[in-house]
Amino acid sequence: MTGETTTESVLVAGAGPVGMTTALALHARGVEATVLEAESADRDRSGSRAIYVHGSTLRTLERIHPGLGTGLVEEGIVWPTRRTLFRGKEVFSRTYDSPGGSGDIPHFTSIPQVVTEQHMHDALADVGIDIHWDAEVDTVTTSPDGVRVGTADGRKWESAFLVGADGGGSTVRNEIGANFDGDQSENAFIIADVGEVEDDPRPPERMFHYDAPDADGRNVLLVPFAGGWRLDIQCIEGDDPEELCSDERMREFVRDIMGKRYADNLEWVSSYYFLQVMADAFVDEHRRVLLAGEAAHLLAPFGARGMNSGIADADEAASAIAAAIDATTEAVVRDEVELYAARREKAAEFNLTAAGQALEYLQGENPVTVLRKEAAASLADHFETAGEWLDDAPYGPRGTPPIVSTGNY
Ligand SMILES: Cc1cc2nc3c(=O)[nH]c(=O)nc-3n(C[C@H](O)[C@H](O)[C@H](O)COP(=O)(O)OP(=O)(O)OC[C@H]3O[C@@H](n4cnc5c(N)ncnc54)[C@H](O)[C@@H]3O)c2cc1C
Repeated sequence: MTGETTTESVLVAGAGPVGMTTALALHARGVEATVLEAESADRDRSGSRAIYVHGSTLRTLERIHPGLGTGLVEEGIVWPTRRTLFRGKEVFSRTYDSPGGSGDIPHFTSIPQVVTEQHMHDALADVGIDIHWDAEVDTVTTSPDGVRVGTADGRKWESAFLVGADGGGSTVRNEIGANFDGDQSENAFIIADVGEVEDDPRPPERMFHYDAPDADGRNVLLVPFAGGWRLDIQCIEGDDPEELCSDERMREFVRDIMGKRYADNLEWVSSYYFLQVMADAFVDEHRRVLLAGEAAHLLAPFGARGMNSGIADADEAASAIAAAIDATTEAVVRDEVELYAARREKAAEFNLTAAGQALEYLQGENPVTVLRKEAAASLADHFETAGEWLDDAPYGPRGTPPIVSTGNY
C-alpha cells in the first residue's frame, strides 16, 4: 500500500469515543467515513476514564445509531443516592425514588469508558465501517478543495474533509497550526478503579468526603459504576503522587476508605495533573479540517464534561460536514464549517469555565472558599441548602452551553 493515494469521502483521525461517534454520525447522515487509528487493533484501552455518560449524550448516540444509547443504559447503572461528609460527619444525603427519571433514556448512566467504546466498535461493525489500525496520521495538508493526509505507514489519503479526533496530543491540531492555550491544576489527583466484590455491601451511592479522616485529611470522591467503583483522592501539600500511587499505599487507602474486602480488587491506579486548555482555532484556514473532542479541548473531569462534550462536537461536526457536502457554493461550505467552529468554541469556553470553577473550589486555599465550606458544614444540620451546596460544589455549575445544540455540553 506504500505510496498509494486513496480518495475517501470524509476522513476521521482517531478511534476514541469521539472519532467513532463522528463516523457513526456521518453514516447516519448518509456520508461515508474512513477512520484512521494510530494504535493496533489489539490495543489495551483499560484505565480510569469516563464513567458518567449524560442523558443528552445517550440520546445523541441513540439518534445516530438506534440501540447504541439504550445498549449503554442496559449495561450501565444509575446510582440513586448522593451523599456528602465533612471531616467524618454526614452533611447531606438524598436518595431518589426514580433516579433515572422516566422513559428509555435516564438522566445519566455510569459505565466504564472501555465498555462504552466496545459498544461503539460493535455499532461501527454493524454499519460496515472499518477502522484502519496502525495508521497514524503524521501529515495534513489543506487547500480550498480538500485535505491530503499522510500516515506513518507511508500511505496517502485524500478527502473533502478531515475530522481531527486524535486526542489531547493531536497531530492534526499541530498540522493545522492550532495551539493549546490554558492552565494546569495545582494539585495532583490519584484516580483508581476498584472492582466490585461479591454481594457488594456498599450502597450504590456517589459519596464526596471533605478532609476525610480515613484518607489523612484528603478530599475523597467515590462513585459506583457498572462493575466497580471510581476512587478519587485529592493530593494535599507535601504529597508525592508517585509514592501515593504505589500498590501498597493504595491498598491501604482502599482498605481504610472502602473496607478490607475491597483491597484486593484494585484494578487500575494513576495520578493526574489536569489540564484546562482549548485550541485557539477549531478549524483550519481552508475550512476543511474540524477538531473535535480532546484534540480541541482538555477539561478537568469534575462535572464530567470531557467525553460528553466531545460526543456533542462529533455530532455537530458530522452535521456541518453533511451540510457542506450538499452545498453548491464554496462560500456555503466555509459557512457551515465556520458555524461549527463558532458553536463548539463557545461550548468549550463554557465547559472550561464550569470545570475550572469545580477545580478552583476543590483546590481552593482561598480563605473565603475555606470559610464558606466550614460555615456550610456547621449549618448543615439545620439548613438542608447548606449541605446541598457542599454536595453540589465539587462538580461545578450544572448549566449547559448557551447555544442551540443537539448535545447538552
Ligand atoms: C480520570 C478521568 C475521568 C474522566 N471521567 C469522565 C466522565 O465521567 N465523563 C466524561 O464525559 N469524560 C470523562 N473523562 C474524559 C474522557 O475520558 C475523554 O474526554 C475522552 O477519552 C476523549 O475522547 P477522544 O476520542 O477525544 O480522545 P481519546 O480517547 O484520547 O482518543 C483519541 C484516539 O486517537 C488516536 N490517535 C492519537 N494520535 C493519532 C494520530 N496521529 N493518528 C491517528 N490516531 C491517533 C488514539 O490512539 C486514540 O485512539 C475523564 C478523563 C479522565 C482522565
